[in-house]
Amino acid sequence: MARYTDAVCRICRREGDKLFLKGDRCYTDKCAIVRRSYAPGQHGQGRKKNSEYGLQLREKQKTKRYYGLLENQFHHYFEMAEKMPGVTGENLLKLLESRLDNVVYRAGFAMSRPEARQLVSHAHFTVNGKKVNIPSYMVKPGDVIAVRSGSMDSDKIKGVIEANASRPALNWLSVDRAKAQATVVNLPNRNEVDLQVEEHLIVELYSK
Ligand code: SF4
Repeated sequence: MARYTDAVCRICRREGDKLFLKGDRCYTDKCAIVRRSYAPGQHGQGRKKNSEYGLQLREKQKTKRYYGLLENQFHHYFEMAEKMPGVTGENLLKLLESRLDNVVYRAGFAMSRPEARQLVSHAHFTVNGKKVNIPSYMVKPGDVIAVRSGSMDSDKIKGVIEANASRPALNWLSVDRAKAQATVVNLPNRNEVDLQVEEHLIVELYSK
């Protein structure tokens, strides 16, 4: 699957926000946003556009990049969200949060979403006991996501789970670190998604 492969810290600087794409480093003062909190490039420190369209575009780009998606993938989620009952922006976040790579990250089995995507692609996880290596696989309430038995001895995975042991628990995801598994209690409501985005601006952008 196609994916963004340029320097990821540039993406955060472009969006003016931490997108937590690099794991450990994002939590230190080596973070590029901490060191250079302006957009990359020659005109990065110049005047910022704040037109209505510019604001809508930035919210869309930021959300897309949080989840590591390309435009057509992201737009596909938007179309799905539009067809669901309820508020489209909230539906969109719910769908994005239900991706397997996101759930692996949220459960603390990876340091970042890009790492979670890689671990899922390398078949380190099961869903309800069956191997799943598709990062976009959509989980449902009741699904159990677990580290595959053959991957339990991986120093990398053990190290990540240990490093994330102090992460705050999420209401919608029940994590058993000793068993390296997580159960989806329900898909998150908007107030359970800690994303600093104004999703209604994305809806306005795509509704033009
Ligand atoms: Fe973004 Fe992490 Fe790089 Fe900071 S270290 S700019 S949060 S990817």
